[in-house]
Amino acid sequence: MVPKVVFPDNKGDALATTGKTKQSKQSKQDYRVVAQKLRAQRESLPIFSARSAIVKQVRAHPTVIVVGETGSGKTTQIPQYLLESGFGTIAVTQPRRVAATSIAKRVAEEVGTPLGGRVGYTIRFEDCSSERTQLRFCTDGLLLREILSDPLLRRYEVVVLDEAHERTLRTDILLGMLKDIQRERKRVAELNQQAPEAEEEEEEEEWHRDHRSHGTHVTFDEPEAPVAAEAEAPAVASAVVDSVHGDVTGVGELKIIVMSATLDAERFAAYFDAAPILYVAGRQFPVTTYYTTTPQADYLDAAHLAALQIHTETPSTSGDILVFLSGQEDIESVERLLRESAGSFPAGVPALLPCPIFAALPQAQQALVFDAAPEFTRKVILATNIAETSLTIPGIRHVIDSGVHKARGFDPRVGESLLVEPVSKSSARQRAGRAGREAPGFCYRLYTEADYAQLAEDGVPEIKRCRLSMVVLQLKAAGVDDVMGFDFMDRPSKKALKHALLELFALDALDDQGALTPLGRWMAEFPLEPAYAKVVYASQAAGCTREAIDVVALLSVDSLFYAPADKRDESNAAQAVFRSSDGDHVTLLNLLRAYTAVNGDAEWCKEHFVNRRNMKHVLDVRVQLNRLCARLGLDTQRSCGADVDAVLRCFLAGFFHNCALLQPDGSYRSLSGSQAVHVHPGSALFGKKTPAIFYDQLVFTNKLHARGVSAVDPLWIAQAAPKLYGRLSK
Ligand code: ADP
Ligand code: MG
Repeated sequence: MVPKVVFPDNKGDALATTGKTKQSKQSKQDYRVVAQKLRAQRESLPIFSARSAIVKQVRAHPTVIVVGETGSGKTTQIPQYLLESGFGTIAVTQPRRVAATSIAKRVAEEVGTPLGGRVGYTIRFEDCSSERTQLRFCTDGLLLREILSDPLLRRYEVVVLDEAHERTLRTDILLGMLKDIQRERKRVAELNQQAPEAEEEEEEEEWHRDHRSHGTHVTFDEPEAPVAAEAEAPAVASAVVDSVHGDVTGVGELKIIVMSATLDAERFAAYFDAAPILYVAGRQFPVTTYYTTTPQADYLDAAHLAALQIHTETPSTSGDILVFLSGQEDIESVERLLRESAGSFPAGVPALLPCPIFAALPQAQQALVFDAAPEFTRKVILATNIAETSLTIPGIRHVIDSGVHKARGFDPRVGESLLVEPVSKSSARQRAGRAGREAPGFCYRLYTEADYAQLAEDGVPEIKRCRLSMVVLQLKAAGVDDVMGFDFMDRPSKKALKHALLELFALDALDDQGALTPLGRWMAEFPLEPAYAKVVYASQAAGCTREAIDVVALLSVDSLFYAPADKRDESNAAQAVFRSSDGDHVTLLNLLRAYTAVNGDAEWCKEHFVNRRNMKHVLDVRVQLNRLCARLGLDTQRSCGADVDAVLRCFLAGFFHNCALLQPDGSYRSLSGSQAVHVHPGSALFGKKTPAIFYDQLVFTNKLHARGVSAVDPLWIAQAAPKLYGRLSK
């Protein structure tokens, strides 16, 4: 159950922290010094001895699956090995932004170049790369978007799909698309090779294509010099024209590497036509696991108490504590509790330093997790799933596992939900394993052993439990017409796919033949759910693009207000100044205006119980959205001033499927699924009655709660979606 292999301890200076990189001031020499220091650590990783074997396999096979314990060096080392062996441009995908940025930073240090040079990253709303970048860390969503503008991903010679075991929605689509692209590139590469006599050999090529599934793999001859040469190649003399892709000169085969932290490799291998599996040894010390004797009513309290208990009962030199929680709200609650307790430690007790890490955390703060704690101080890292396999945080010896995570759910009748749910056994094992990276460790599960026994063995791939409109739009935009027939590794239900097709049709992204409309193509460029893309698009004609972008940015974070349990009334009163009878969207706009007016003053945020961290994030997102919209041809300054109706009507253009009507008995019923819907207690419209509402999302707790709710005129709904609700207008 708990990893049991004990490896000899040769960690040496493995955990030497590299200090902060002050890029502008560092000289080439400084970069080299840092890289040199990290060299010994790199070479002490278990994966180092497998270096040439890995490179050899990648040369010999189109696809390779790599499995290895978290921390063995898959993510940071394998891309470097390929780079050192002369492979061309490499993309490494991560399911999370935080992972992409912090791993890129680490690898740039190891390589000895400034971040954004030879090693860089690109994530939604943030690009830290250049033409020189040969090793690019990016989110899986970003690579998907790249396929739209570069259907063969010709700029990459290798794509590494990391953390594949997580089976996020985007990883799954990428798996399918990359498989397609690989096949196409092989065909094109062969075409390139036989270009001079292309016509005579075409038939034979066809025959090979059909009879290729068995037999030996193509050996990779000297890798062609990729990108640079390709860009400069004189198109006239050597252009090979392919009937599907146009000029395909210089396009070579695509190598795919799928990396996973769990032993589910056979499925990936089978999916990629019997690709070889490489097992990388890890270094794992034994972890002693404890369970609670009784179920815990409140895991946040339990986590707080467990952390205090570990801290006071073990010397602070016995290692840091890592707490797994479900999301930002959990993390911030526990952070607050710990700060309060830590303030009243008796003299002699070492300090306790809470370090949160989650997706929306600004980068400067994420970095704190990796820094060594000051003297006489113990770090308590409060993390989401991000620390389960993506990030290796040094110094951890104690893990507290809440046993929950946030999981997306989708039911075409009800809508989307984001619920706190029990993790799988395989997740719980990964979490425990984090305590034994450097020495024997301890894992405290905040649930009983009987509860553990009840957990599912593995999680369900996200593609089987979420809204698919974004997926389908991306597939269509990438030229996959037959979405139902797409080669998914795990097929989503027909019902969910059909629902997505219908939604896209209603959004005018698809025509009645299921083909992408020009608007659909425009929406696909947008790194947001199609519904939001539609809102922004509609805002142009309605003259409220500035406000629409503001609201979309505001909705991009979980919570902007907070309400400590003991100060509910106080926070309620302080926030009343923003509250609008139009609902939450206008309330958020009011908040943003007030926040901007005081320049994001920290005191002001405190007084109004406004989450300043998240407000800063909103401003970042807004900058990026403005840039993107300008690039897509919108006038981002178009403003409706005080006419907020215009904004709400624009939102309906995207969210008409998230509407509910007031019933004679005072309850709300959803228009599309006829479900009872309750306004969330945190909403500005809680307890108010209005003929119709639309909402951003439904959250199922004990009943269906609508969050992000605004009041609208029922007629607007019919006008927004005549294809669905035309009858309402009668
Ligand atoms: P894997 O992908 O197999 O889980 P990684 O490549 O992420 O492993 O990490 C390999 C090793 O590199 C870790 O065990 C750790 O020692 C070191 N490491 C990675 N990132 C950092 C970092 N940001 N700071 C310090 N050490 C790191
Ligand atoms: Mg990794």
